[in-house]
Amino acid sequence: MDVTPILDSLNDVQRQAVTAPSEPALIIAGAGSGKTRVLVHRAAWLIEVEDVAPQGLLAVTFTNKAAAEMRNRIEALLKLPVQHLWIGTFHGLAHRMLRRHWREAGLPQNFQIIDSDDQLRLIKRLLKSLEVDDSRWIPKEIQWFINGQKDEGLRPKHIDDEGDPNRRQQISLYQSYEDICQRGGLVDFAELLLRTHETLRDNAELLKHYRRRFQHLLVDEFQDTNAIQYAWLRLLAGDKGVPFVVGDDDQSIYRWRGARVEHIHRFQKDFPGTRVIKLEQNYRSTETILNAANAVIANNNSRMGKNLWTEGAAGEAIKVYSAYNERDEADFIIGRLNDWIAQGNMRADSAILYRSNAQSRVLEEGLINARIPYRVYGGLRFFERAEIKDALAYLRLTSNRDDDSSFERVVNKPTRGIGARTVEMMRAYARANACSMWCAAGAIARDDLNGRAANAVNAFMSLIERMARETNSLELHDKVDHVIHVSTLIEFFKKDKGEKGETRIENLAELVSAAKSFEPDPAEEMSPLDEFLSHAALEAGEGQADAWEDCVQLMTMHSAKGLEFPLVFMCGMEDGLFPHQRSVADPNGLEEERRLCYVGITRAMQSLYITHAEQRRLHGMDNFSQPSRFISEIPDEYIEEVRPRVQVARPMRSSSPTQRRTPIGGAGSELGIRLGQRVHHKKFGDGVILNCEGQGAHARVEVNFEAAGTKWLVLSYANLDLM
Ligand code: ATP
Ligand code: MG
Repeated sequence: MDVTPILDSLNDVQRQAVTAPSEPALIIAGAGSGKTRVLVHRAAWLIEVEDVAPQGLLAVTFTNKAAAEMRNRIEALLKLPVQHLWIGTFHGLAHRMLRRHWREAGLPQNFQIIDSDDQLRLIKRLLKSLEVDDSRWIPKEIQWFINGQKDEGLRPKHIDDEGDPNRRQQISLYQSYEDICQRGGLVDFAELLLRTHETLRDNAELLKHYRRRFQHLLVDEFQDTNAIQYAWLRLLAGDKGVPFVVGDDDQSIYRWRGARVEHIHRFQKDFPGTRVIKLEQNYRSTETILNAANAVIANNNSRMGKNLWTEGAAGEAIKVYSAYNERDEADFIIGRLNDWIAQGNMRADSAILYRSNAQSRVLEEGLINARIPYRVYGGLRFFERAEIKDALAYLRLTSNRDDDSSFERVVNKPTRGIGARTVEMMRAYARANACSMWCAAGAIARDDLNGRAANAVNAFMSLIERMARETNSLELHDKVDHVIHVSTLIEFFKKDKGEKGETRIENLAELVSAAKSFEPDPAEEMSPLDEFLSHAALEAGEGQADAWEDCVQLMTMHSAKGLEFPLVFMCGMEDGLFPHQRSVADPNGLEEERRLCYVGITRAMQSLYITHAEQRRLHGMDNFSQPSRFISEIPDEYIEEVRPRVQVARPMRSSSPTQRRTPIGGAGSELGIRLGQRVHHKKFGDGVILNCEGQGAHARVEVNFEAAGTKWLVLSYANLDLM
C-alpha cells in the first residue's frame, strides 16, 4: 500500500499526529499550522492504513462549506469516493440522526427545522396569545434565554428559578414554547443538538449502535464547542471511542454563543491519557503577517501560550490606510482590488473582512459601481429572503399542515381576505384545543365565521390540499415551480413595480433551479421535498447562490474562521467598532475581540491591508473614532502607512467618469460644484469636495480640507471658491 500521498506533505509533528495510535488525542496549535490538514490526513490514514471503514468515522467541521471541502480533500487523497463517511457540522449531523430516529426522538416523521427568524416570530405570537406584555418580556431576550438554556442542555424542568419571579416567567415561557414546537413538529437549531443528545442518552440500543459504529470522532475548531456539543461528543465516545480533536485556544470567538474554550482542559480530564500534540510551524502567512498576529495576541492574559514560527519569507509590510470616511475606505479597497485583478490574480483569492454585518452595504455599493463581482457570506442570504421563505412556507404546508409558523406566514399572502381578526380567532381556538392552526382554521370556518370569511379560509385550505395533490407525483423542481405559480406569489410580486418586484421574481425562479440542482441523498429515508426543505433551513446560514463565479469574498471576521486568502482587507478598524463598543469595558470581552482580530490577521497569506475611517456613518449615525487599539499593538516595523492619493475624493456613487462630472443639483449646480472639485475656503484653506447632500438652501457639501480635515458646510453660507 502506498501511503506516500498521505504522509509526504506533512512535517514530522503533523505526521506523528496523523499516525498516532487509536487513543484520544488533542492537537492544540496556532493559526495556519495545519490542524485542518492533519484532520483530513488522519481520516485518510485511518481508512487506508488502519482499515477503518468510512462509516466508522464521524468528522465534525464548523461550517457546511468546510465539510464539503474536507470530503473533497479526503477523496482526493484516497482517490475514491467516501459516501458513507459522515462529515458535517454539529447541527447537520444531529439533524441526520433525528431524521433517522424520529420515532425514538419523539418527533413526527416530517418535522421541520425553523431558523432563528421563524423562532422569533413564534415567540412573538406566543407572547401575544398568552397576553404577556412584550415590552417587558422582550421576544428577542426570551429567544436568547431559550437558546442559551438549550445550549447548556437544560429543559425547563431542569432550571432553578432561584426564587426570582422574572426567571420563573422566563422558564414558563420556555415551557409554552416547547409545547408549541412539539405540537407543530418544529425543531429549532439548538433543539437539534439537545434532542439528539437526549435521544442517544435515553436509548441504550441506539447509543450502543452509534458507539460501535463511530469509533473515531474527528473534530475541527474544537475550541468553539458549546456545552451540549461537548456532551454529545462525550456521550458518543463513551469509554471506547477515540476522539481526535484539533483547536486553538487563541481562536475561540463564540463565547457569546455558549462556546467554552475550557473544554480543552476538560477533554484531558474526561479522556485520561490523552495524547497532546502541539504544532508550531505556520505554513500560511508571511513572517511579517505572522509576527504581527503573534504580537497582537500576546496582549491577552488567558492563553495556553504557543510559539508560532514560519520558514516563509518576510514578505511585504502590512498596509494601514486611514480613510476620511466609510466611502473613502471602500474606494481605497476597490482601487487595490482593481490593481490586484489587473495583475492577473483571481478575485476569489481576496477577502474583505469586517466586524459588523452592516458594514457590507457601503462596500457592496462600491463593488457594484466598479462592476466587481462579489459574494457576501452571512448577510441576507438567498434562503432567508422574504419571497423565498414565502415559497418555502407553501411547500412546507404541503408536507405538513400542522406547521403553524408556515401557516401564519402565508395564510393571507397573497392577500385573500383573511383578516387579522380571523387569524386571532384561529389562534384562540388552537390554544384552547391544543391543536394546530390548520385544524383550528377548519373548525372555525365550519362553526364560527360568517359566509365571506369562511369562504376565504376554506379557499386557502383547499388551495393547499390541491397543491399537495397536484404536486404529489411531480419531481422536486416541478413541485417548486407548480407551488410558486399556483400560490399566485409570482403575480403578487409582479404588482410590486420596479426592480424590487423583479428581483423577487428572479429569486423565485432561482429557487426552482436550486431544487433542480439539489441532489437528494439516496440513503435518507425522508422525501426529497422534506430533505430539500431541511437543506434550505440549514444552508441559509452560508454562502450565496452562484458559488462558482470568481468573485471577491465579503464576510465578517467570525465567518472567516478556518479560511485563508492571499489578499485580505480588514476594514473598519476603529475603537468602538472593533473592538466592539460592548466589549471595551469588559476585560473578557476585550480578550475575545482580540482573538477575533488574531483570526482576521491570520487569514492573510501574502498581503494584508488594514483600514479605518475618521468618520463613519453606520446604522444611520455619524461616528468619529480613533483607530483601533489593535493597530497600535502591531509593532511599527511591520507596518507601512499608505498616504491618501490626491484624487482620493473620487466618489463612490458615480460609476462613470461622465457621471462623476455632473454638477450636483440645487445651489451647487448653479455654482458648477461637482464631486472631486477642488475648492478654497477663507478660513479652512484648500480642499476637495467629497460628498453633497440636499437641494437649494439646504444643499450641503462635505469638503476634505488639506489642513483642517473633513467638514460639512452649508453651500449657501460657505462662500467656496472654485479652483
Ligand atoms: P486555522 O487555525 O486557521 O484553522 P489550520 O491550523 O487549520 O488553520 P490549515 O488550514 O490546515 O491550518 O493549513 C494552513 C495552510 O498551510 C494550508 O494552506 C495548508 O495547505 C498549508 N500546510 C499545512 N501543513 C503544511 C505542510 N506540512 N506543508 C505545506 N503546507 C502545509
Ligand atoms: Mg483549520
